[in-house]
Amino acid sequence: MGIKVVKFGGSSLADAEHFRRVAAIVKADPNRRYVVASAPGKRYSEDVKVTDMLYRCYEMVRNREDITEYYAQICERYNSIIRDLGLNFDITGELEYIRNGITHHSGRDFAASRGEYLNSLILAKLLGFGFIDAESVVYFREDGTFDGEKTNEEMKKELQRFEYAVIPGFYGVMPNGTIKTFSRGGSDITGSIVARAAEAELYENWTDVSGFLMADPRIVQDPQPIKEVTYRELRELSYMGASVLHEDAIFPVRYAGIPINIRNTNEPEAPGTMIVSATNGYDTDKIITGVAGKKGLSVITIEKDMMNAEIGFGRRVLEVLEDHDISFEHLPSGVDTMSVVVSTAGVDAVRERVINAINRSVRPDSVVIEDGLALLAVVGRGMVKAKGTAARVFDAISGADVNIRMIDQGSSELNIIVGIEEHDFEKAMNAIYREFVKA
Ligand code: ADP
Ligand code: ASP
Ligand code: MG
Repeated sequence: MGIKVVKFGGSSLADAEHFRRVAAIVKADPNRRYVVASAPGKRYSEDVKVTDMLYRCYEMVRNREDITEYYAQICERYNSIIRDLGLNFDITGELEYIRNGITHHSGRDFAASRGEYLNSLILAKLLGFGFIDAESVVYFREDGTFDGEKTNEEMKKELQRFEYAVIPGFYGVMPNGTIKTFSRGGSDITGSIVARAAEAELYENWTDVSGFLMADPRIVQDPQPIKEVTYRELRELSYMGASVLHEDAIFPVRYAGIPINIRNTNEPEAPGTMIVSATNGYDTDKIITGVAGKKGLSVITIEKDMMNAEIGFGRRVLEVLEDHDISFEHLPSGVDTMSVVVSTAGVDAVRERVINAINRSVRPDSVVIEDGLALLAVVGRGMVKAKGTAARVFDAISGADVNIRMIDQGSSELNIIVGIEEHDFEKAMNAIYREFVKA
């Protein structure tokens, strides 16, 4: 059997009890040789993730507040894990060094990254595995983008030195030696990078749900797990809000054709979801693979008669967004109308400037920005063959008395995206789920 790389999320490493479960899972299979760990997550719903506590420390230092008391709570999170595990391990020096780094402006990413660093030290100690610091194997370029090739080379060399090792997720190093993190949830990406470098047979991603579910379990009650999903479907779903796996975690393993298995640390016997490059068809009773969505979006609508005849119109609008550092989510357009869906948080501070710049650049008849939009994506490789899927999606939504503001069917025929009012989000997701999944 080949190597398995296993990644455990924050919820799987939130306290000593979970550390024990993790150790049992790792030890149950000697092929589980490389372990990627996240920072301690929430122990109960009102709890705060250690990563968020570290970001808060960084903000406090910026505001010239004293972090002593607040930082002591972070120390206690780790010390209680060590104590409850009965480990003979003193991290006082590490904690002191990190506190110093945070108070002496080592940077926001340095602060955030220490959550996974410390957790991985503890997990390595518990398992009796080696420790590979991500800062010596995960590289970013000068412009902040991830350097996949250099990382793969260095990671390969380092892995060969260890039969068994723990590697902290979420961060790496800039050319000048400072720490940089991926975006939130980025330990999934580290797991995928390690799997590629180890030429693993399988990348197991252990979390707190029994696989990728057909809908967000915080919105739809008890959604069915997905047995098998393709990388492409998964990327659509995770980009559109199914936050179980970071959307960029697909790339390193897809490149190498390594399947990902999403598993539940609290229910290790459940098979979870397999994410694969291609599959042998699909269950005919499962036309859709899943539904996901996100809120907090705004739509910029630009109207101009004969827009379609003006060469370069779209490019100039997108240039304005680029100049203001705004990326767009979707671009559903008509003959004389162009709509650009962007995140409200991204456009909020520069709203007036964006409107003025679009007015100057393309002289439209009108340009408006409306907030309160949510997008829902219905995703499924089975949709190409099943006639009338779009009609069923629209019927289900209107049957729930929800108004559709926008429709965008991806040219890949892998997804149908609908824009709705934010306050209808939960209702619409439930309606779609019920339409396609018979109880
Ligand atoms: P981890 O701490 O293991 O990285 P995350 O919190 O990042 O875990 O991801 C798992 C969570 O993703 C689940 O607890 C669930 O609330 C949420 N989630 C959202 N959409 C889905 C989905 N379609 N299937 C499964 N979980 C989902
Ligand atoms: N701990 C980081 C976060 O909370 C990374 C991760 O969990 O994957 O975003
Ligand atoms: Mg996660």
